[in-house]
Amino acid sequence: MKILYFIFISFSLLACSQNYQPIKSSDMTNNTSKNNPYFSRTDTAKINISEEEWKKHLDPELYYIARQQGTERPHTGKYNDFDEKGTYYCAACGNHLFKSTQKFASTCGWPSFFEADKNGVEYKRDSSHGMERIEVVCKRCSSHLGHVFNDGPPPTGTRYCMNSISLDFVPDN
Ligand SMILES: [Zn+2]
Repeated sequence: MKILYFIFISFSLLACSQNYQPIKSSDMTNNTSKNNPYFSRTDTAKINISEEEWKKHLDPELYYIARQQGTERPHTGKYNDFDEKGTYYCAACGNHLFKSTQKFASTCGWPSFFEADKNGVEYKRDSSHGMERIEVVCKRCSSHLGHVFNDGPPPTGTRYCMNSISLDFVPDN
């Protein structure tokens, strides 16, 4: 009986540690277009599908950030400390969002941009977690990208604080 109890406890602990394992985005690749029929870098038609459908086609990490307003841990995202030249697209749908020329080195722990493609993003009020913030979502598929703040550098004074997992980077050339 004691042994059974011990096994039960062990399994419970195992289940807990799996549930609370933090996302290590640095270990991940953005497997964006794979198995995702909605992903296109040329189609601009709005996407309005169920969360069930999204869940089928997005990697679990991306689904959590993009569709459940998740946030990756600071200083872990692959595009945080990253200055290659290229273009950033929505990892969920391929919509054009940012250029590397709009990115700046921020100390906040997430990839930051001072400007976004006006046709790429739109804004929502976010009062969650006891804060008043402005959420940035993809204009094509409404996926969560991050938040925008007014403490950015010139010329705009704006800081788009994004999740690396929500971004799909394509280098120039
Ligand atoms: Zn999108």
